[in-house]
Amino acid sequence: MMRSVIGLEIHAQLSTKTKAFCSCKNEVDADPNTNICPICTGQPGALPVLNDQVVEYAIRGALALNCEVHKVSSFDRKNYFYPDLPKGYQITQYFHPIATKGYVELNSGKRVRIRRIHIEEDAGKMFHSSENITESESSLVDLNRCGVPLIEIVSEPDMEKPQEAREFMEKLRDVLRAVEISTGNMEEGALRCDANVSVVDDNGRSSSRVEVKNINSFRFVQRALEYEIDRISKAMKSGKNVPMETRGWDSASKSTVSMRSKEAENDYRYFPEPDLPILVIAEERIERIKNSLPELPDEKAKRYEEKMGIQKENAKILSKDKGLSKYFEDATEIGISPKDASNWIVNEVMSLFNANSAEFDPEKVPLTYLKKIIDYTNSTKISRLAAKEVIDEVYKTGEDPDTIVKKRNLLQMSDEDSLVPLVREAIAENPKVVEQYRKGKGSVVGFFVGAVMKKTNGKADPKLAGKLAKKLLDGEIE
Ligand code: ZN
Ligand code: MN
Repeated sequence: MMRSVIGLEIHAQLSTKTKAFCSCKNEVDADPNTNICPICTGQPGALPVLNDQVVEYAIRGALALNCEVHKVSSFDRKNYFYPDLPKGYQITQYFHPIATKGYVELNSGKRVRIRRIHIEEDAGKMFHSSENITESESSLVDLNRCGVPLIEIVSEPDMEKPQEAREFMEKLRDVLRAVEISTGNMEEGALRCDANVSVVDDNGRSSSRVEVKNINSFRFVQRALEYEIDRISKAMKSGKNVPMETRGWDSASKSTVSMRSKEAENDYRYFPEPDLPILVIAEERIERIKNSLPELPDEKAKRYEEKMGIQKENAKILSKDKGLSKYFEDATEIGISPKDASNWIVNEVMSLFNANSAEFDPEKVPLTYLKKIIDYTNSTKISRLAAKEVIDEVYKTGEDPDTIVKKRNLLQMSDEDSLVPLVREAIAENPKVVEQYRKGKGSVVGFFVGAVMKKTNGKADPKLAGKLAKKLLDGEIE
């Protein structure tokens, strides 16, 4: 069995108000080149000043990812030439990063270690003539993103399966969102992932390491790695050399393509940034931030499971997203039992949003309405099937469940007086089945329930119908 070794490098855009080293707005999507100044466009003589909110956010992220935050760290220059980088270098933390040694715990309990987290700035964006610009044979540059703060998170090569890499990314996003430092949106580029992968064969011989870039969704993290592991394994089996290289994921062809060989990789000539002082963080500040962190998704899931008695899978789903966990907790506040709330929200409410490919929005299914539907169902006034119909209608029209139940005539027949004659009728019509019952086949009660459901167009309360059928057959009632 071949096995693979996967490590990830993630860049997360921090949602600070202003950029990392100047006071330009941190708004990437504004009109091109409107949020720029002499500092972030690298004019001679302009000096960077570190935005303290960047430090605050980086510490929050690092602590939430179980890292050790260093009281002393510093900035360096990573030098390279590209038109989207007007300074000719990126300010980053190479020699002394702000944090090291964290981890993310996967659902299996396995811990994927984080080697380091450092602060750095983003570069601008290029638009080439192929990408909807009218001037042919030309490229345009938008520097709004220059100087936008990032944290780069580097994992240890602890993952063995593409699925683990995807789960790592999703958990990371959930944590970054929970501590409110990044939107974590991969599709919008606020969270970017480069994956390093190598394959080890049965004899312990390892392939070269291949880096895959341009992965812009959680699904593609898994897909790109599956593709790459397959490609490398096949090459190794057929005795071909796997060159060390950087490849790009192409979501259109669902494959990776070679971008450059590692031999040709740039020498970045890292050296300490002379224009920024050493970053010193007081112990008290780290403590204060540690104490101010909100409950993280994993802790929340644990609380739901252990204190509220929620099923593990449901607890995980409900704790992932702030809006959803609030909805769930609010549901229990207005008197829905935790068990009902979790089951109904995960199985019914969320599947509505999924079916409509919509983002979760608590307004679409108000909790007071959800409570009414659950009460109707628990008291067997309406069937489970009718409940689905009602919740669907609430989602679509926003109508009150009382109105919907009335309008659609969904109330179950759950009073004995109206059901007994129908059950009696069903028994009279099926003497052969009655015979089977007499011979000891108790399961035929279900047959009479079915018959009564048919007679009532599905409106009879099936439990009560079963109970009455048994009583009538046993002669307990006439
Ligand atoms: Zn600026
Ligand atoms: Mn980087």
